[in-house]
Amino acid sequence: MNETAANYRSVLARIARAQAAGGRAPGSTALIVVSKTFSADEIEPLLALRQKVFGENRVQEAQAKWPQLKVRHDGIQLHLIGPLQSNKAGEAVALFDVIETVDREKIAAALAAEIKRQGRAPELFVQVNTGNEMQKAGIDPKDTGAFIKSCREKHGLAIGGLMCIPPAGEDPVRHFELLAKLAKENGLAKLSMGMSGDFEAAIGLGATHVRVGSAIFGSR
Ligand SMILES: *Cc1c(COP(=O)(O)O)cnc(C)c1O
Repeated sequence: MNETAANYRSVLARIARAQAAGGRAPGSTALIVVSKTFSADEIEPLLALRQKVFGENRVQEAQAKWPQLKVRHDGIQLHLIGPLQSNKAGEAVALFDVIETVDREKIAAALAAEIKRQGRAPELFVQVNTGNEMQKAGIDPKDTGAFIKSCREKHGLAIGGLMCIPPAGEDPVRHFELLAKLAKENGLAKLSMGMSGDFEAAIGLGATHVRVGSAIFGSR
């Protein structure tokens, strides 16, 4: 077994343990394997182990490797986890199964138009900037409720969940708790939170999706 496959098995075991420790049902947290910067050849061992859910942060990079992989492997679910420009909305709707980074009116409008035009509707998550960081994408926590309402009522979009990336170097717990609270307030069942360094804590606080890259593939 190669190193990536061994790391992958160990992450799955850690997810199962965190679910048990947190009183979560087995299988209640999906592992999104974050394959950004890694080639199709490096991803193949995980596809061979029947991993189906992957995350990419750039539309162009995903376009270069995933259409061919999707032809060879059934049931792939591809998540966009990086910022989306409105001029890439068409390509994102065509390729991704879940877009986790809806965070402003302009993107909501562009996605609504493309979903209508293409007749293909990826699941959508709203990204929340839980740390109010200037440089980071995501909607301000205090504007999240109004934005979700606008996505639903003005743009006719179904929102499935929330996503956050806590500030680097800060205890993520407060951010995970805030995201869970906002999801509850807005009637959303899905929470994408937790990365290589903190996915167990996120599972304890209700993550339905964790996004793990370097703990599986090694450092980028
Ligand atoms: C890169 C990335 C991850 C994975 O990070 P690791 O620390 O390598 O697990 C998760 N979420 C987002 C949004 C990312 O860009």
